[in-house]
Order: sequence, then structure tokens, then C-alpha cells
Amino acid sequence: MKIKPDSYMYEMIRTELTDVVGEDYVDVKFADKFGHSIDYYWIPEMWHDRGKECPKPDFVVHPSTTEEVSRIMKIANQYKIPVVPWGGGSGSQGGALPIYNGIVLDMKRMNKMIKIDKQALTVTCQTGIITKHLEWNCNKAGLSTMHLPASIACSTIGGFLAHRGTGVLSTKYGKIEDMVMSLEVVTPTGEIIRTLPVPRHASGPDMTMMFLGSEGTLGVITEVTLKVHPQPEARKFRAYIFKDFHTAMQAGQTLMRSRLGPCAMRLYDETETKTHVSKVFGMDLDKGAYLVFGFDGREKIVDLQMQYAREIMEKEFHGKDLGSKGGEWWWENKYKFFYPGYMFHVPQAFGTLDTVADFSHIENVYWAMKKVVNKEFPDARFIGHFSHWYDWGCMLYARFIFPGDKVPPNAQEAAALYNAVWDKAIRAAIREGGVINEHHGVGLKLGRYVKDLYGTAMPVLEGLKKQLDPNGIMNPGKMGLPGCW
Ligand SMILES: Cc1cc2nc3c(=O)[nH]c(=O)nc-3n(C[C@H](O)[C@H](O)[C@H](O)COP(=O)(O)OP(=O)(O)OC[C@H]3O[C@@H](n4cnc5c(N)ncnc54)[C@H](O)[C@@H]3O)c2cc1C
Repeated sequence: MKIKPDSYMYEMIRTELTDVVGEDYVDVKFADKFGHSIDYYWIPEMWHDRGKECPKPDFVVHPSTTEEVSRIMKIANQYKIPVVPWGGGSGSQGGALPIYNGIVLDMKRMNKMIKIDKQALTVTCQTGIITKHLEWNCNKAGLSTMHLPASIACSTIGGFLAHRGTGVLSTKYGKIEDMVMSLEVVTPTGEIIRTLPVPRHASGPDMTMMFLGSEGTLGVITEVTLKVHPQPEARKFRAYIFKDFHTAMQAGQTLMRSRLGPCAMRLYDETETKTHVSKVFGMDLDKGAYLVFGFDGREKIVDLQMQYAREIMEKEFHGKDLGSKGGEWWWENKYKFFYPGYMFHVPQAFGTLDTVADFSHIENVYWAMKKVVNKEFPDARFIGHFSHWYDWGCMLYARFIFPGDKVPPNAQEAAALYNAVWDKAIRAAIREGGVINEHHGVGLKLGRYVKDLYGTAMPVLEGLKKQLDPNGIMNPGKMGLPGCW
């Protein structure tokens, strides 16, 4: 339902919202609405590029306190209009798009640092804070969140909590959900709740985890307490080239099982080594698979960890040592892949098919996706790297890229081609034991696969949604969950 701007209902709602946050913080101008109609999902970007209109919010509201969020939720329930939380709009899944109009709740005024507790080693902040600003504030106190994603400058911590996002040091410090102590949440009906103050307890199921990854469909996360860490004395990297991707994967797996505890590890397939890694690092790597890893902490311990890791790489798997320089290049350029010149953009069509699986399945997931994309879509290039490692498996960050001249000019045909790649690739991944996905979330893009993924457990998720959000107003149409629209 779209509320007509010249209707009295529109003015009623606008007046009530203004009463909560003040006139300056209820945007209704075209430019404000437009800026909240496209995130980093390819389809709306392409749609706009083809001169077509994307759904826009009726109101962009900028709360500054939890109480204001609560009052806004109550107004939305009264009028039964959708509410979509919006952080930085950097999500790649269309999660923040107001597809049924209504209110976009832009969280960026909720950017306050509340407390750094040096005794407990925790930081408490509002969730609209830009991820990099949070990190800077911690750095000033000699600490770090160790949550360093590539989108650190354009995302909010709330977006990461909502998507269960991951930073480059996750292999040692965990995903965002491993860093959370507790949350404050405004439920869809406007209640303000707090989860238990520590993450490990035996007082029933874990409510903190229930809201992490809920992508704004179960409530608005307004405050978080995260663990923080002292800055390490040293952080060192080293890179190797292996004869092929399979050998490099075995080496990586062995390192994870060695309990040496690398802080980061990244393996690029042969194609990506040759194209992307060579180009970004200015190295001539035309054969083999590039594996980089690092350790951080007390320098003497880091040196020992590195020494044992090198033995694994060289003695067990005959990796060619690119030295510490070959590893540090990666660390220094780790975000460069995401900046202009390297990052893909319309008119190209591209998608990140990130999938997580255990070591028994991850290679088959990779080969199955690669095979289906290469066979069914010969115009697309398929590349992949493996990051965010665990002792049981890792994440495949696979990508498909169509050159601009191979993407249909007609918007519907372009969307159909795009969705067809996802259908084939994701279903191949699920068949081979992969889980979509590790850190980008579901959003609008992958909602249609959630039923396949959850199977008979789906009604449990749907029941939770109905219980918390009886009017179905919270981010309707996302994560494959029902809403009232
Ligand atoms: C160049 C680039 C690099 C990236 N690199 C990474 C990376 O390294 N790791 C990674 O994990 N992701 C990465 N991403 C994806 C993206 O940055 C993350 O998904 C991030 O978590 C989105 O945060 P955001 O604040 O922009 O959220 P948005 O895109 O605004 O919103 C994402 C979802 O969260 C919900 N939401 C936002 N705030 C709240 C809140 N306070 N309460 C409840 N729900 C909320 C929204 O409704 C939506 O469903 C990258 C994206 C880009 C463009």
C-alpha cells in the first residue's frame, strides 16, 4: 500500500512522526527518498540505470534515541505501515530496500559511543555508528574491535549485526556474532528489551543470537555491547603459491587444524590469482593458487607461529614462498579490490555467491558452481577465493561477472538473466552441502531459497516472526518471511 502524498492520511502520519523526532528528521523530499531506494544489490542499480523507478519510502525518519525508535514502531503499528531499518545501505542483498514503501528508519543519527569498559574489555555504542568510527574510537583507547570488513567506511555496526557480517580478521577473532556480549532491541510492537549481559550462560535459549542475522525482520537493534581487544604488538603475513587450488586448500585446512591460530587466511583460485591478484599486487602470478595468511599478538609468539606454519606450507605441501612482502602486499591492499578500477559496476552484471561449507564439501561446492556457471552462462566469468576459515571448513567467495555488452539492455531480461545465474549456482551449492551464505545475509535477493534451506524447520522461523510482529510491518518481504503486504 502506498500512502498518497496529497492524502490526509499521509499528513496524519507525517505529523505524528514529526512529533517524535522533529521536522528536520522526517525527510519527504524526492532526493532523500531516492537515496534510500538503492543499496548495493545489483538489480535496483541496473533497474535505475535502465531509466526505471525503484520503490521509494514514503518517509525517511532519523531517530536519535531508543525511545524515539519505540514510538515510531508504535505509530507504524497503529497505521499498519512497513518499517525498514537502514544503516549505511551497503548491503548487497537488497535487505534495506523499502519494497513496499512505508518508513525507512535511517539509523545513522544513533551513532553515540556509550562506554568503553577497560576492565571487562567491552565497548557499548548505539548501532547507527559507522563501523570505522567505532574502530577509531576504540583505537584511541589502545583497543580494537578486530571487526575490519572491506565496507568499514560505508556501513554501520547495526547492519553487520543484522547480517551476521564478517571482517578480514574473522579467522582468529570470529564473526560479528562471536564478538557480541548483549543487545538492546526495539521489538516490532515497540517494546524495548535487553538480552542477557553475557553471551555464555545456561539460562535458556540464546535471545541475542535470535536477533543477530534477523535483518530487521524481528526488530530494530538499537544498542550493542561488543568485546574489544588490546592492539597486538605485531601482525605478520606471508604468502605462497601452490601448484593448484586443491593443494592450496589442503595446506590451508592443515594450518587451521594445527591450532596455530592464524588471524587471517585467504586462498585465491587459479583464475583469480592470474587476473585479480596479479593485477592488484603488480606480481607476475600466471600459474597456481595464491594463499596468504598471517598471525598477530606478542611478536616472539607470532614468529614461532609463522615458523611452524612455514614448515607446513613448504615441507608438507611444497608451496613456493613469496616471502613476507608477498603477504604484506595483500594486507596493505586488502580493501583495494573493492574500490574503482577493480570493483565491478553496471553496465557489468555481477554477483557474489558466498557459500560456506565444511572441508568435506567446500571443494565440491566450488566445482559444482563453477561448472554450472561456465556451462550455462558462457558469457560470464567465474572467479573465487576462500576466506573466513574455521577448523571445520571455510567460506567460498565466488563471483560471476558478465561484461556490459553481454547484459540485455531490457531491464526485465537483464533481471531474468541475473536471477537465472543465482538459481543455478545456489541450487548447485545447496545440493553439494553448501549453506547460503556466510556473511552477506539473505535480504530480498536470496529470500526464495530460504524454504529449501530450512526445510521442515521453516514454520519455526515463520512462527517467531508472527509472534514478534503480529502486523507484519517489520521489513516485509525479506528473508523469505511473510509480511502483511
Ligand atoms: C564495497 C563493499 C565491501 C563489503 N565488504 C563486506 C565485508 O568485508 N564483510 C561483510 O560482512 N559484508 C561486506 N559488505 C556488505 C555490507 O557492507 C554488509 O552487509 C553490512 O553489514 C551492511 O551494513 P549497512 O549498515 O550498510 O546495512 P544496510 O545495507 O543499510 O542494511 C542491511 C540490513 O540490515 C538491516 N539493518 C540495518 N541496521 C539495522 C538495525 N540497527 N537493526 C536491525 N536491522 C538493521 C537492514 O534492514 C537490512 O536488512 C560489503 C559491501 C560493500 C559495498
